[in-house]
Amino acid sequence: MTVTIVWFRRDLRLTDHPALWEAAQEGAVIPLYILDPHESSGAAELWWRHQSLHKLAESLAALRLPLLLRRGDPLQILQEIIDTIAVDGVAWNRRYDPRGMAQDTAIKADLQARGLSVRSFPGDCLVEPWLHHHDQQPYKVFTPFWKSLMARFSVAPALPQADLQPLAPELTQQLSSESLSSWQLLPQQPDWASRFPEFWEPGESGAHIRLHAFLEEGLLNYSKGRDFPAQPSVSRLSPYLAHGEISPRQIWQETQSHLANHPELAAQGEHFLRELGWREFSWHLLFHFPNLPDTPLRPEFADFPWQNNEKLLYAWQRGQTGYPIVDAGMRELWQSGWMHNRVRMICASFLIKDLFVDWRKGEAWFQDTLLDFDEANNSASWQWVAGSGADAAPYFRIFNPVLQSEKFDPQGDYLRRWLPELAALPDRYIHQPWMAEANILAQAKISLGVDYPLPTVDHAQARQKALDVFQNLKKKT
Ligand code: FAD
Repeated sequence: MTVTIVWFRRDLRLTDHPALWEAAQEGAVIPLYILDPHESSGAAELWWRHQSLHKLAESLAALRLPLLLRRGDPLQILQEIIDTIAVDGVAWNRRYDPRGMAQDTAIKADLQARGLSVRSFPGDCLVEPWLHHHDQQPYKVFTPFWKSLMARFSVAPALPQADLQPLAPELTQQLSSESLSSWQLLPQQPDWASRFPEFWEPGESGAHIRLHAFLEEGLLNYSKGRDFPAQPSVSRLSPYLAHGEISPRQIWQETQSHLANHPELAAQGEHFLRELGWREFSWHLLFHFPNLPDTPLRPEFADFPWQNNEKLLYAWQRGQTGYPIVDAGMRELWQSGWMHNRVRMICASFLIKDLFVDWRKGEAWFQDTLLDFDEANNSASWQWVAGSGADAAPYFRIFNPVLQSEKFDPQGDYLRRWLPELAALPDRYIHQPWMAEANILAQAKISLGVDYPLPTVDHAQARQKALDVFQNLKKKT
């Protein structure tokens, strides 16, 4: 009987796990997770990872399999285990980020040189990024990318959970695992994540519960409702996807089966799957442009005259800009570890085009605070808003935070949820409290500049400044 180490990474699930499935067909499996101290991880995603590893360990324990937890350099750890017990091979699902790919290539070469079988399997994309291109060139525009992907490929069926054998006691005894709590992934003092459990149930089963709830309720009005942050019309699956508790193939398959039973939802379903396509496109971009997280894809943006005012950046991070829709979004992010897509676009645009802060500073803040941080989606989206990316929003598209708020949160429900100090303001003023007369502010018990900030910048002036700078960039090219 063969013994294979299955190395879990951002694929913390038992179903549709190609490496686990294949290894289990051949014999015993040693599930391993390595915390790599050199991998840069945001604080919020570490909170989720703790919960997710806990859930994975529980599911494996129910099958009498221990999840081996080790911290350190992955190659060294794999070598140590291989030196301790008789192992035939190592298997993993492929990663597509530049650092992960380089690490996997080096580890594969080393272990193969030691005579081990090392096998890798498709990772968490609908289609592996290197399979899909146009005349050997990467796609830079979403629509042709998605149309061609749909025409040329079919998504592989999701695999069921493998039949896993309990590990022989003599093997288990030889394996020493670290304890999850010793890794201290959870915040201590202060515990800024204290409200996260109100919003989330991490883990593989939580992911499927969320998907089914969305298919039953949210999908009905996805196309329109997805732009309204107070409506429960989006799936909120992103943190589960980011940690691999559910795979995009599973979402694809389950959505298709739901649509087969509900043909009236075909257009909503197609729209939802196309959004999953944007995730796919981001991974395509990161794979082909590994500098995406720190280098503008359009070279003319390299010399952008950022002002990087630290005070303004801090006000943005803390939800204290004086623009309610921006502040509500940034507080939603801080308190729940997630932000609605429409509001992400508004907040990102505000940082870049109103406050003139380099998009990479916003990208870094999102990396630290998002539970769904995803290197490809985060960097591609920031570049999209900045106008420096592939298929980016044109430079003159500058979100007006008041008009966006009035349009997508007309009754101010979202604003009141995250900015309780403004709750008593009438709908007419909640989007721009500085326009309210003194008696209205007094009735709502708000003193501007004390209970809630005055606007940090004048949007009209900032917009004009941004347009002038972008025009100059255009002239230079
Ligand atoms: P749904 O609307 O239910 O969509 C389902 C899935 O499709 C999402 O989970 C996601 O995987 C994918 N998706 C949806 N919209 C997009 C999009 N615009 N771009 C790429 N994929 C999409 N998403 C992340 O997963 N991680 C990030 O770090 C991230 N950073 C972002 C930063 C900025 C500045 C912006 C504007 C967007 C960012 N997004 C990021 C994309 C998007 O906001 C989230 O994927 C989405 O809000 C997740 O919510 P949902 O699961 O309810 O989405």
